Formats: sequence, structure tokens, C-alpha cells
Amino acid sequence: MSAVTSVIGFPRIGENRELKKSIEAYWKGSSSLDEMRATAASLRAKHWKIQKDAGIDLIPSNDFSYYDQMLDTAILLNVVPKRYRDLGLGAEDTLFAVARGYQGEQGDVTAQPMKKWFTTNYHYLVPEIGEDTEIRLAGTKPFDEYQEAKEQGVDTKPVIIGPYTFLKLARGPQAADLELTDAIVSATAQAYAQIETRFAELGASWLQLDEPYLVLDKEEGDLDLFRTLYAPILAARRAAENTPKVLVQTYFGHIADSLDTLFDLHVDGVGLDLIEGRDENLNALGTFTVPDDVTIFAGVVNGRNIWRNDYAQSLGTLDAVRQVTKNVVVSTADSLLHVPFTTANEPTLGDDVLRHFSFAVEKLGELTDIAALADASDEERQGSDVLRANQALFDGTRVQPDEAVANRVAALTADDYTRQPARAERQKTQRAELGLPLLPTTTIGSFPQTREVRQYRARFRKGEIDQKTYDDFIASKIDECIRHQEQVGLDVLVHGEFERNDMVEYFGQNLNGFLFTRNAWVQSYGTRCVKPPIVWGDVSRARPITVRWSSYAQSRTKHVVKGMLTGPVTILNWSWPREDVSHELQTTQLALAIRDEVLDLEAAGIRVIQIDEAALREKLPVRRSDWYGKYLDWAIPAFRLVHSGVKPDTQIHTHMCYSEFNDIIRSIDDMDADVISFEASRSDLTVLDAIHEAHFETEAGPGVYDIHSPRIPSVDEIVGKIHAILKKMDVQKVWVNPDCGLKTRGDEETWPSLENLVEATKKVREEL
Ligand code: GLN
Ligand code: ZN
Repeated sequence: MSAVTSVIGFPRIGENRELKKSIEAYWKGSSSLDEMRATAASLRAKHWKIQKDAGIDLIPSNDFSYYDQMLDTAILLNVVPKRYRDLGLGAEDTLFAVARGYQGEQGDVTAQPMKKWFTTNYHYLVPEIGEDTEIRLAGTKPFDEYQEAKEQGVDTKPVIIGPYTFLKLARGPQAADLELTDAIVSATAQAYAQIETRFAELGASWLQLDEPYLVLDKEEGDLDLFRTLYAPILAARRAAENTPKVLVQTYFGHIADSLDTLFDLHVDGVGLDLIEGRDENLNALGTFTVPDDVTIFAGVVNGRNIWRNDYAQSLGTLDAVRQVTKNVVVSTADSLLHVPFTTANEPTLGDDVLRHFSFAVEKLGELTDIAALADASDEERQGSDVLRANQALFDGTRVQPDEAVANRVAALTADDYTRQPARAERQKTQRAELGLPLLPTTTIGSFPQTREVRQYRARFRKGEIDQKTYDDFIASKIDECIRHQEQVGLDVLVHGEFERNDMVEYFGQNLNGFLFTRNAWVQSYGTRCVKPPIVWGDVSRARPITVRWSSYAQSRTKHVVKGMLTGPVTILNWSWPREDVSHELQTTQLALAIRDEVLDLEAAGIRVIQIDEAALREKLPVRRSDWYGKYLDWAIPAFRLVHSGVKPDTQIHTHMCYSEFNDIIRSIDDMDADVISFEASRSDLTVLDAIHEAHFETEAGPGVYDIHSPRIPSVDEIVGKIHAILKKMDVQKVWVNPDCGLKTRGDEETWPSLENLVEATKKVREEL
């Protein structure tokens, strides 16, 4: 007998990103709606079958999505703002309009705001609840997919975002705070009760409600809200014998402050993350009595890393849970959405490396291994080949330490983290020295990576074209891009990043200590996927990385060209970090490597250097009490270490993507950059209040239009954004830019958008 196993969610984008390709073909008009639907159905079937064949007991359904599971939940609950419904599009097209904006015959609407999903690099669409929102069960997706699986012989565990997490993440119109009125709460609770009832009719045995919001700090009344939301669901659950058991699934942290509430409510299952919230969750389990009718879903297989599970450690955790209850299911710690598909598609990595890795498919095997070992006696465990082979991976040293790196880290002093002179003084001279006007315009770095660019890179990688042909091509793209920027009239130019496949991988390729995968894609948002490199050993710079193309670009224009680097925290957060040394140490090593690059760029005559920290906010611990001690206290200094060595007149920029900045705005100022640009357009510039209140010193360019949407913003629209910015910021400190890199856009929307941006800026300058 082996313990029951459960998977919280499985990657949906497909082993070869089939879903991405199919949806994008549909967007382009090169394939039909039916073709897209058929691909989706075949992927669902394949994923269920893989899990079934692996011997997983509780296989998720409704973890599939065309774009995002929060958006699906919003649609299910009829939380689709009227402006999208009024377009009169079909179901999928309405969904895509909410997700990406729509500009066409049926109208012109911007996309809904998108935010990072807890501490991951996945982005969800923020549901908008307005006065005219009528929350009710309005869709059938979870039921359809449950039945679809059942017809294929797989009795799944349907998965839906839970009502508490859904409402806590929802916002009012224009991203304003949402007042959770009784009407909203009760309508939501009723809709979920109906979902429970409907699944009873269909015969589901478990209903998984994902409540990751429970791992966050509680505000006054949060747990009461939780109780209120769950009362009708649990009443529906108890209305008959055969209604599905309710599993409240948490992940990304611990729920020590809410576990007793869940026990008190007698939900049937409580899913605990015993990786990220291990100690606190185990302590809480020891403190409160687990009711006999509650099953603990023990999350011991990490859905956030690519390293093999340490079975001895997982068994230790399971044994600890079993001390307090016999009702234990062996589960992933969170959805496998956040890991790549399988290590089987990595021909370039040798077995000696691959045996240390485990992607989604391999993690299924880990679950069943652990479940079998969990029920084994001590003797059986001792005699287990599976356990012995696993143990061998963790014995001994996996990689040799790099002594030169260790010595350099050990020699760091406080001065290495402090740039001179103070920023206020630097800012006085920089603009004059650089000859910049008020409201300088710039972009975030990348320009469209068109099919042509991607083809050249692919052909170069395959050896079909030689280095010179490739380099000539990159040079010609830079020339073209510089000329175009001059024509449009931007003030600070960029080279366009055509040589980079990805802002992290490109750097990793020039750093010692990194490994790369071929197919290890992970969904980031919608059809966008990322392929993080792997930190395998100690990190140092192998060779100059960006100097050549930045200097080349600067040689082609009289305007200032901004050098473009990725910062240490972002490189770490968008890589798969090691687990045998701390994140702090890995980040410090990265900071030293990028520092070398900054100084080389400066020496080569680059006067403005942008160090992107797009992902700084991402790994901020979920609990406020851990923010500084466990993260910001080393992440912020790491950024300062990168740029503290430059001359006063060298202007250091940074950039941050989608996330909330308001509560860490002072830490952002502490990075001591001269200028920051950030995503703001999709959140209606709410960050401006924080900038205003914090007397933010860094000059800032809150993005004036959304680059994640193919829409072209009009001049008036951008003028409106600049006006809004000027209401809250000193004009001397304002920059005008799009909200992120333009790499994912086409030329046909990029250049008109930038023309409008420059024209809007000129208009506003005239008013000053
Ligand atoms: N410089 C990068 C670019 O423009 C920044 C990308 C990002 O913030 N994600 O592509
Ligand atoms: Zn960005």
C-alpha cells in the first residue's frame, strides 16, 4: 500500500509549447478557432494521461487555461467588465480582449492589469469588480473539463481559485481598492456553493480550492471573511453524502495563523506547503489538534525548483506530519505550472548533470516514490534501492568551489557598497553634462525581436551561418534601430538588444557557473514563456558581455546611447538558483560579475548604464516580517555593489516590471540609482502616490503606455498620462518612456507608438 498522491496543477503550455504556438497562430489569423480548441483538448488529454500513467491518484482538472487561471475564475463568476462584454465577441475572443486589450472593428479597450502571482514569475490578470458587476456562476469550464477527463477514463480533482484568494486579489475599477461589501461576499460564496453542488451531480470526489492568499499576513477581519465565504460551500458539501470533499489548498508559504480556522471549519482537506512554509506549518500542526475528519495534503515535492527531491528529507517531513494525524496525502507543494515539462528533452546536458534535475514529469515519479516509501517500514526503507540512489545525489560535493570568487567576496567592505558623491549632488550635473531636455524620452532597451532576428539567431546557433554573417546582421539591425530612434526624436537611445535571446540567459552564457537548457520553458504570462538558466556552480564573469555592441551603437550616433545590463537580483530570480548555498551569496557573486561589466562599459565611453532589476520585487518574502531580514537587507546592497564604482557623471538607470512598488518604495530609493523606469500603465499609475509620499529621490519614468498589448496609444492618451505624472512628481525628475522592453512587439505598432510618445512629450514641454 502506498499513500495517496495529489498534484496541485500541471503545466499547460505543452511539452513543446504547443498551446503557445496554437494560440498565437489563432491571434495572427493563420489558424482557426476550432484548430486552437482542438490543440487545447489534445494537450489536456495528454497531460491527464501522463499523470494517470505515472500512478498519480488525485489528478487536477481545470488547471488548463488559454491565458490565466485567475481570468478563468473571473469569467466563471461573471466578473467581466462591461466594456469587454460590449465588444460582442465570442467566448475566447472576449477572454483575449480582457487579457491583451482589443483594437478593431468592435471597439478599442485596454487590457486589464496584470500582476505577479505571489513570489513567482507568473503573472495573473487582476479581476475588476465594479458597481455593475453581478457575481454569479456564469460559466461551465470546470465542469466541462471534469467531464472531458472522465470520458477519457480519468476521474479528476477539479481545481479552482478559491473565493478568498479571488476576492482578496480583485480590485475596483482603475485598480482602486475594492470594498468587499456584504453583497459581493455573499454572491461569491453562493456561486462557489453552486459549484460544489454541481460537482456533486457530476460525481467528483474532491474539489480543490486554491487559497494561496492565506499564506500572506492577515488584516483585521480576514479570517472572518474566510469563514463567511466558506460557510455556504461547506453547507452545500454537507447537504448530501456524495458531494465532493473540499480541499483548501495553500502554497508559497505557511498558514500558521489560519490553520486552526480551517480545522474549526472542518474543511475536508488542508493542503500545506511543506517546502516554503515547512517549519512554521509543522509547528502549527503540532500546536492544534487535527480533527479526525480532516486530511492533510502534505506538499513535499517542490514545484518551484528543478532539483531532485531529497527523499530522506521529504520522508522526515511526512513522518513529522504522521505523528499528528494518520490522514495524510502526499502532494506537490504547489502547482507544477512553474516548472518545465521534462528533463527528457535536454539532449545537450549529460546524464551526470541531468540526474540532479527533476521537471514536472519527473516530479510525478518523485511523488509516487515518496508515497511508496512513506508507508514502508524502517527496514524496507533501509533496503530500498530507490532511496539509496536518491541519497547518493546529495552525498559529497556536486561542484568544486571557486577560490578566487570566495576570496573576492570575503574582501568586500562597506565602501564597496557606497557610491560617491551623494545622489542629489550627482543629479545636479548629470542632466547638463548629458545635454538632456526636461522630460527626457527613452525606451527600456529592447526593440522588436522580429521573425527575421529570431531566424538569424537560430541559423547561427545551428551553424548555418558564420559568426561574421551573424555579426554583420546584428550591426545592421543596430544601425537601423539607431536611425529610427533619431528620426522619432528620442533623447536617450538604446542599441535594441537584438543579440540577446533573453535578458538573463544572454548574461548567463557569458558567466562561469551557469548551465542552459534547450526546452525547459515555463509560462510567464499568457503565451509568453521563459527559459531560466541554471546556477550550477560559483559565478564569475568569463568575458566582457555587452561592451562590444554598446560601443558600436554609441559610435553610430551623436546622441547618448544607454548601455543595457541585467542586475544580479534579477539574474538570480529568473534563474534556477542552487540550493546548496544561500541566495545571498549567489547574488553577491553575480553582483561582482556585473560590476566588472559596468566598469568596462564606462571605460568604453558609455555614459548612461541601465541595470535592469525587473524581478526585484518577485522574491520578496510573502510575510512582511521576513522582508528585510530574509531579502531586502542583502538584495538592495547587491545592486549598490554593482554600480558603486562609477564616476559621478555616469548616469545609472534601473528598471522594474509589473509588481507593486508602493510598500518597498524606500528600498527602491536605497538602491541609489539615478533614474528608474517602471511598469505603471496597467495599474493606472498608482505608484505615483507612493513616489509622492516617500519624497522619492530617484528620477523616474513611470511607463506611459502598456507594451504588453498590441494597441497603439494616441498622443492625447499619453499627454493625459504625463499630466497625471506631473501632478505627483517634480518635473525635474520625470522621464517619459514605455513601461517595458519592446521585444515582444512588432515594428508596425512600436514605431507609431514611440512617435506618439515623443509628440506627446513635446506638447507637454510646450505647456511648461
Ligand atoms: N532591457 C530589457 C528589455 O527592454 C528589460 C526587460 C524587462 O524589464 N523585462 O527587454
Ligand atoms: Zn520591464
